[in-house]
Amino acid sequence: MQQRNPSRAVVRRVMRSLKRAIASFELPVVEKIAEKQSEDPFQILIATLLSARTKDATTQEASKRLFRVARTPASVAKLTARKIESLIYPVSFYHHKARHVKACCQLLVSHFNSQVPQTMEELTTLPGVGRKTANLVLILGFRSRENICVDTHVHRISNRLGWVITAQPEDTEEALYRAIDQQWWPFINLYFVTWGQNICRPIGPRCSECLIAPDCPRIGVRRRKSE
Ligand code: SF4
Repeated sequence: MQQRNPSRAVVRRVMRSLKRAIASFELPVVEKIAEKQSEDPFQILIATLLSARTKDATTQEASKRLFRVARTPASVAKLTARKIESLIYPVSFYHHKARHVKACCQLLVSHFNSQVPQTMEELTTLPGVGRKTANLVLILGFRSRENICVDTHVHRISNRLGWVITAQPEDTEEALYRAIDQQWWPFINLYFVTWGQNICRPIGPRCSECLIAPDCPRIGVRRRKSE
C-alpha cells in the first residue's frame, strides 16, 4: 500500500477548520443518538447497524420506533424478526438487518451478560458488525481515543485531500493511523462525515464553498458543483 504523509500543520489546520465549520450543520445520525442517549453503547450499536446505506432521517426514525418498543438486548432479542422488520422499515435491507439485530441481541444476552463488549475482537463476533461499526461503538459508546472509524465519506475525503492513497476503506483506516496524529483519530469520522454529507459530496463536491480548499489538491475530483 502506498502511503502519503500530510504535514502535521496541514492536518491541524484542516481539522480545526472543520471543527468550527461543522457546528452549523446537522450532526450525523449516530452522533445525534449518542448525544441524546448519553452515549449508550447498545443504542449506538443498533443505530449503526441500521444506518448502513440508509439516509440519516430514516435511520433516526427507525431507531426511535425500535427503542420505543425495546431498548435492551434482552427485550430486543425477545421480539420476532418480523416485528423488528416492521419497526425498522424502510431502512435499506430491513429484512437482513432485522435478523442481524435479533441475532446480535441474542449473542449479547448469551455471551456478554447483556453488555456491549469493549474490544474490537469481541465486537466483530457479533452478527453484522464489521470494523466500521465496531470502531464507532468504541469511539462514541466507550470514548475510545485509539480508534478511527472509516466509512465511505472518510475514505473519499482522505483520498481527495491526498492524506492516503487507498482503494478500500479498510486500507484507509490502516493508512490514517500512520498518517495523522492520534489526537485527531476519534474526531475524523464526525468531521469528514458531516463535511461529506454537506460539502465534499461524492458527486459534484462544492469546492468553491469549501473552507479547506486551500489545503486540498482535490485528487480524483473530476466534476465540481457549478462547473
Ligand atoms: S476542496 Fe473540494 S474535494 Fe477538497 S475537501 Fe473541499 S469539497 Fe472536497
